[in-house]
Amino acid sequence: MDVYSHPTFDMAARQFDRVADHLGIPVDERDRLKYPKRALTVAVPLRRDDGSITVFPGYRVQHHLSLGPTKGGIRYHPDVRLGEVAALAMWMSWKCALMGLPYGGAKGGVAVDPGALSTGELERLTRRFTQELIPFIGPQIDIPAPDLGTNEQTMAWMMDTYSTHVGHCVPGVVTGKPLVLGGSLGRREATGRGVGYLIGRVFETLGIEQSGATAAIQGFGNVGSHAAYSLARHGVKVIAASDVNGGVHNASGLDLRALDAHVAATRTVAGFALADPIDNASLLELPCDVLVPAAMERQITGANAGRLRCRVLAEAANGPVTPDADTILENRADVFVIPDILCNAGGVVVSYFEWVQDLQSFFWNESEVTDRLFRMLESAFQQTLQASRKQNIPMRTAAMSLGVKRVWDAKRARGLFP
Ligand code: NAD
Repeated sequence: MDVYSHPTFDMAARQFDRVADHLGIPVDERDRLKYPKRALTVAVPLRRDDGSITVFPGYRVQHHLSLGPTKGGIRYHPDVRLGEVAALAMWMSWKCALMGLPYGGAKGGVAVDPGALSTGELERLTRRFTQELIPFIGPQIDIPAPDLGTNEQTMAWMMDTYSTHVGHCVPGVVTGKPLVLGGSLGRREATGRGVGYLIGRVFETLGIEQSGATAAIQGFGNVGSHAAYSLARHGVKVIAASDVNGGVHNASGLDLRALDAHVAATRTVAGFALADPIDNASLLELPCDVLVPAAMERQITGANAGRLRCRVLAEAANGPVTPDADTILENRADVFVIPDILCNAGGVVVSYFEWVQDLQSFFWNESEVTDRLFRMLESAFQQTLQASRKQNIPMRTAAMSLGVKRVWDAKRARGLFP
């Protein structure tokens, strides 16, 4: 299916092929698991503040429908393409199945730089994009959530547009909403908090003392910043953080409160006075106990994987490590990888809790959310670690095989129609 050709889709497909070999999936059953069930491409016209019109391409991909509705984020970034979104949807499928959630994977996005639009333009773009998606989404069909470049406000506009269309309030159509609209306590923090929890568990497993350990974080957005706070609460020193405009480094540990104030005032970590500047490539190669890529795909490649100097690589972003880098890292006993579909699963787990709360109109307190989140992450971590050790396979292959096998089992149990 050439329509999905893209370096990120090729990467997700290579990872899948490897797992399919490991599981012994017959060749004629593989394409059914690999390719998205359906995909929608839309043209989103936006009236700009100056009165002119710009059309942006938008996408939504639903990877499989075997276990329930589909679930996945909406990304606003200039590099969004159909193949990239399809790869992200595939990863969502394996992630939801690994976590035991009743969802297939989905992803969507608009090829736009959200930083270049005014708030009014962003609202009009989001509403028009949602309007184009209306036949394709719904609480029992496909449930979007925030991702790179989108946030609670984006979800509020999506929920409002959908609800206005159907004529009544439908909070369960999106997750990651503001609390006042049926959002869940703990959703905003969930992905980063989950990353912090799993890093803590891996430190325990490897015998690394959390207090005084060091962390470097690429991408200080929703996921990266909450991972940083979560690590800092356990005494980990965050020595570097970056965003699309650059990075900052302080070997004694960044003052996260002061960094937050700087980001609130300037919308970037760059220029933070209590640290030295560092570029994104150098940040990845800093000596540290844990490196947390929390920005984009394909950041750790065959070119730099050999130069990483971390003991734990916690993949908070989706797809930050290429298969070429995997080959290098698998031969490096000094680096423990927490694969993306496990590491950042906290987001979709609490999105699932939000959806359940919305469907039941019965809301939980924050400790119920966080306790249940940690229990589900712990179970997936244990299963993945055991599979990795027992079968002597890398953590990524272990996590993906658990996810892929569940989807494969579901497809076999349902059979092929007609
Ligand atoms: P965000 O938009 O809140 O933050 C992204 C951050 O990355 C920003 O600071 C941005 O400036 C930075 N960034 C972008 N391009 C960069 C580059 N080339 N180099 C360095 N920094 C760069 O997005 P987010 O929601 O935090 O998502 C980050 C990653 O986590 C994405 O891969 C996303 O798919 C993944 N993820 C997010 C969630 C969630 O709940 N939001 C859940 C699972 C996975």
